[in-house]
Amino acid sequence: MLNFTGSPEQCLAALDHLRNSLRSINLTVNTSKCTFTYFHSETQALDMSVVTQLEEQSIPIFTESFELIGAVIGKDNEATKSALDNSRAKWRLEQDALFTRLEYLTSQTQKLVLQRLGASAINYRLRAMPPSVTENLARITDDRVLVQAAGAIGIPNLLAESNVPMHNRAIQEIQAPLSKGGFGLISTQLIAPAAYLASIHNSLTRAPTFTVASLQSPRYDPGSLLAFNINDSITRIRSRESSISDSIDPTLTTPPSLLPHDPATFFHHFANLRLPNVQQALSQRTQNLQLLARLNAAKRSKGSQDQARLLSLQAKHSSRWLQVVPTTTESRLTDTQYYWASRLRLGLNVPYSVDNSDCPSCGETNALCNDSWHALSCLTHRSREVTDRHNFVVDAIERHYRMAGVRTWKEPTKQGKRDNSRPDLKAFEPVGTLLTDVSVTHPLAPSNLAKASKSTLACAESRAQIKLPNTARWQKTKMLLSSHSLVRPLEVFTN
Ligand SMILES: [Zn+2]
Repeated sequence: MLNFTGSPEQCLAALDHLRNSLRSINLTVNTSKCTFTYFHSETQALDMSVVTQLEEQSIPIFTESFELIGAVIGKDNEATKSALDNSRAKWRLEQDALFTRLEYLTSQTQKLVLQRLGASAINYRLRAMPPSVTENLARITDDRVLVQAAGAIGIPNLLAESNVPMHNRAIQEIQAPLSKGGFGLISTQLIAPAAYLASIHNSLTRAPTFTVASLQSPRYDPGSLLAFNINDSITRIRSRESSISDSIDPTLTTPPSLLPHDPATFFHHFANLRLPNVQQALSQRTQNLQLLARLNAAKRSKGSQDQARLLSLQAKHSSRWLQVVPTTTESRLTDTQYYWASRLRLGLNVPYSVDNSDCPSCGETNALCNDSWHALSCLTHRSREVTDRHNFVVDAIERHYRMAGVRTWKEPTKQGKRDNSRPDLKAFEPVGTLLTDVSVTHPLAPSNLAKASKSTLACAESRAQIKLPNTARWQKTKMLLSSHSLVRPLEVFTN
């Protein structure tokens, strides 16, 4: 694609020049695929000779807006929005192609695709057009992603009843980044103003057309459309952050604002901040505030497990299972497994019979009503399902050791003077022998709740400490085997 920019006469002259140059190599210009855009007809009508030349070559004249590689460029925001909304059938069709295909994938694969939606055409449009223009597109995209997510977690009316507190909380967590305990299905409406500001900043600093001018002084006047769009984007981010801040404990330290005071200082503000990625930095600040607000709300709801759950989700790698590409049988989750794991992560109850909420294993009265995840911590499961869960983790570690070509010995004997000092796994790594002991903790178990509500990984770390006397003994034994051996208590926690 080739674009000429200049006065109508200059553009026609450039087209003539191109046509003549192409003729020498036996190529022609297909003018039926050319367009001519002129946004100034109201102030200065096109010269009739230009109109005649364009008509003779069958080149249509656009006076309101035109499409350029998927984005719309209009003479003002109204014209751009109107053209984008009119082409809704087109981008809905694009989205239909994606969402229709998703139906054929498992929940696990669907979410992996949706996590990467931010890197697709939608993100490009958010960067190329201001948020006031893309708001319909962004809202519809968010809604479709949420409907898809709702199906996998078993709340079909999640969006229709988004005002229900539990639904509202689930939506916030689904749209939160993986690193902040969410599902990484980032809200397109949230990133729209940040994406637009970042794109303007990048254009002003990196595009040769703007670089020289912008270094001297920003190449826009306060009354221009660009200044209006920058101001609108700043206002959108500021008002969203301000409404989130209202629900954060005022004694907490919040990250400083990254926004410029006004459009006039926009360029120099970001130039001075030297942020490696403006869009990411702006979005992350909003997401950090949202996390603080969620933690604050969880802290206020006495007796709930939310605080312990949200803190547990802040542990590094707690979202790893949501990023695993299902390429092998071991890394594949069925839709039912995904449903259970998602609900556990979101702190949603699992179905149980209201008529009989007593635990079928230990018989505790109303155990399932008080904690629908009681099965994860039921004491009678200790030598049954809990042991199976522990063994599955050991098996998985051993399998991956073997895939890496490391020889292993499960439950090796004679590692210490007493039998109970036997570790779960011994691996002969190139750097030395590694003894591993696995312990699985459930931070939301009634006995762990108080500890887990204090800090991330509090339960797992305290469990690892309990293991230390044994590991110290192994260390002595193993010193005889190799001076490079390591002892590692491995803690796995649910969530
Ligand atoms: Zn029980």
